[in-house]
This record gives sequence, structure tokens and C-alpha cells, in this order.
Amino acid sequence: MELELVTIGNELLLGFTLDTNAAELATALTAAGVHVARATTVPDDGDAIRGAVMDGLNRTGFVVTTGGLGPTRDDITKKIVADIFHAPLELDTEYLEKLRQRFARLGHSPMSEKNRTQAEVPRGAVTMKNRWGTAPGLWLEGEPGIAVMLPGVPQEMRGLLHGELLPRLKELMGAGSQRTTRSRMLRTTGIAESALADLLEGVENRLAPATLAYLPGPHGVDLRLTVWNANASEVDGWLEEAVALVRPLLGKQYYAEGDKDLAAVVLDALAESSHRLAVAESCTGGLIGERLTAIPGSSAVFAGGVVAYDDKVKENVLGVPRRLLEENGAVSEPVAEAMAQGVARRLGSSASLAITGVAGPTGGTPEKPVGTVCIAAGAGEARRVVTLRLPGDRIGIRHRGAQAALNLVRGLLS
Ligand code: ATP
Ligand code: MG
Repeated sequence: MELELVTIGNELLLGFTLDTNAAELATALTAAGVHVARATTVPDDGDAIRGAVMDGLNRTGFVVTTGGLGPTRDDITKKIVADIFHAPLELDTEYLEKLRQRFARLGHSPMSEKNRTQAEVPRGAVTMKNRWGTAPGLWLEGEPGIAVMLPGVPQEMRGLLHGELLPRLKELMGAGSQRTTRSRMLRTTGIAESALADLLEGVENRLAPATLAYLPGPHGVDLRLTVWNANASEVDGWLEEAVALVRPLLGKQYYAEGDKDLAAVVLDALAESSHRLAVAESCTGGLIGERLTAIPGSSAVFAGGVVAYDDKVKENVLGVPRRLLEENGAVSEPVAEAMAQGVARRLGSSASLAITGVAGPTGGTPEKPVGTVCIAAGAGEARRVVTLRLPGDRIGIRHRGAQAALNLVRGLLS
């Protein structure tokens, strides 16, 4: 089955609202074995909506829209689509009554007459119950094909997608001929995209029917293996074969599968080796602590952290000797090591991590340019300290620094 998406709204084209509906619909529909052939975004403009919906219907006979179903003047999707299907809008008195009751329940009685339009339904359309808002989803079939209209509010769209649209599509496709597209993600860090490509050169042409995508970001390069439009009973096997080819080549650079954060991997490793971690952060200003505490259950192995931004804090709170700061500068391996040992002492932890660096845009020198970061890690007797030159702007350097720090302590624990 093939269809097109049309997302509607001026705010999407102004860039104020990110089109998360298209992404969510595409992910869920693809997983259900539906081929999303195209996604178009149009403003709240009658001609634009009409053009996009008609084009989609002409190409695939099936269009799913989001947005413009509400009660305000700019909400015209229903009117336009009804027009394409020559299905005049009719008042659904039963739905109007339900709307009135809903507003009364919420204490908004009497209901604004504007909401009356929400009870108008194109003749022949099936209404899909929207438990999260007032505009029902609409399923309209006719000579031009099938048009499904969903609200723009992401929570309402999501509810209707999973509660109404997907079950109907599955029924339409029949259980037997289920085809599906599925992916697995392997996460790496500390290795450049080009170096990864070199590692995988030998197996890339043996991965079919799986395809391989390199997805670089501040946390490293994720590798997404995808098997497209395959028999549902075979897809997992194909993926497993591809993963078995790729994963051994990734070595220590591989840290997790799926969307698991490196911080969660570190917490697991700490638990396994019975260590408690304390962190001292300068240039990352708490990013590492944030990543660790975002994981439920982190309190079992994460003691806490000190944001030691000013040198005075490095000295007075962490006990970094002033001499070290003066002789080496705050961004140096000896200071990073002293920060790590200091925070372990202060917080009584057996493992520690410290980071100090130049995030920029100012503060760089020829010897220590912007992006220079010193990281020290300790676990029991083992310790490690590194100096890295990280690329990117201030935000990128801070995120890459936090990731590199977590990776350093991971290496020490494994
Ligand atoms: P309402 O009943 O609230 O008027 P609606 O169906 O008319 O719903 P819109 O008015 O188009 O939908 O959008 C409602 C809200 O949902 C807005 O805040 C908008 O930014 C957001 N929204 C709309 N379309 C999308 C989209 N494609 N992705 C993410 N958010 C969206
Ligand atoms: Mg609206």
C-alpha cells in the first residue's frame, strides 16, 4: 500500500513549528508496511491544500493530511477536501451534542458557535473518535480515492494514528500479505564517519537486502541498518545477518544498540564493577551530570557532581593546587587529573570523571585553540587522562566533550 502525506499550516512553513507530524506518521506507517511515497507541506491556503491533496490522490489514490481541522478561520482542510470529493458538509447532530456535553464537562458552557463547524462532516465520511481534542479525525472515500484528515495538534494526531488509522490500514491490507520496513541502529563514538566507512568497506556490499546509513552527530556516528518492504516473517532474520556482519568490525567504538544513551551504558558498567561515580565539570557546566541523572535509577551509582567553572572553585572546592593552575593553566592534563581526584575525595566516590576545556568562541590560544579539552577519569587504581581537539561551535564542543568524557570512563570500566 502506498500513500502521500500532506501537512498543513503556515507555522510549518515559517519554521516556527517543526513538522514532527510528518516524521511520526512516516515512522509508524512505514513500520506498518505502508509505503509513504511523498510528504508535502502547504500553508493554510485553499488553493495550496487543494493542489497538494489532488496531486497526492492522482499519484497514489490515498492521502493523509494533518492540521487545519480546528474551529478557527484558518482551519479549512475539511472544506477543501470535501469539495474535492463532491461531498457536501452536513451537520452531525449526534456529534454536536457530544461536543456540547464535552464543553459543559470542562466548564466551558455554553460552547462557542465556532465549534459547531467541528460537527460538520463531509457526506459519507466516517468520523474517528478523538479522545484528546474536539476535532474528530475523518476518513473519506470516494471516486478520487481515500483521504484521511487528522488534527494538527501532535498529541491528537498521535492518538488518532495509533487508535484509529493504523488498525484500519492493517485491516485494509489484510493480515496475510504483511510487508514491513524495519531498522536496527548500532551506535559508535570516538571514530570519524570516514574511518568507520573504511572499517566497513569490506562488508558493505554483503549487507543486502539491508541498507546502511551513516548518521553522524555530536554524540558520534550511528549506523542504521534497514530492510525495506520485506516479508514480515523474514525481516528480523535479514537484519540479524546484517548486524552480525557489521558489529564485530566496530570494536570498542561500538557502545549500544537502538537509542540507548552512552550515559546509560556507563551507569551499567559502574553497577557491574561496583563503583560510584563523581564528576567535576568545567566547560560542560553540568551536561554530564544531566545526561547521567536523566537515566532512571542513576542514584544507585552516581554520587553527584561539582560545576567547577571558576578557577577559585577548582581550588577551593576540589582542592586543585594553585601552583598546578598557575604553571599549566586551567585547561591542562594535570589540572583535569587533580579535579578528578578532588571530586572523588570530596564526594567519597571510587570512580571519578573531570573535564576542563576551551569551548570558545573566545579564549583560544595558539597552543590551546578553541576545542581543546582535557579529560581525566579514575576507577579504583586505574586512571586515564587525555587531551582532545574537538570540532564545532560552543554548543557542539560542549556536547562532544561530555560524550568523550563518558566514553573515557566507559573505557576504564570495561
Ligand atoms: P486545532 O483544533 O487546535 O485548531 P488543527 O487540526 O486545526 O487543530 P492546527 O491549527 O493546524 O491544527 O495546529 C494546531 C497546533 O498543532 C499548532 O500549535 C501547530 O503548531 C501544531 N501543529 C500543526 N501541524 C503540525 C505538524 N505537522 N507537526 C507538529 N506540530 C504541528
Ligand atoms: Mg487550528
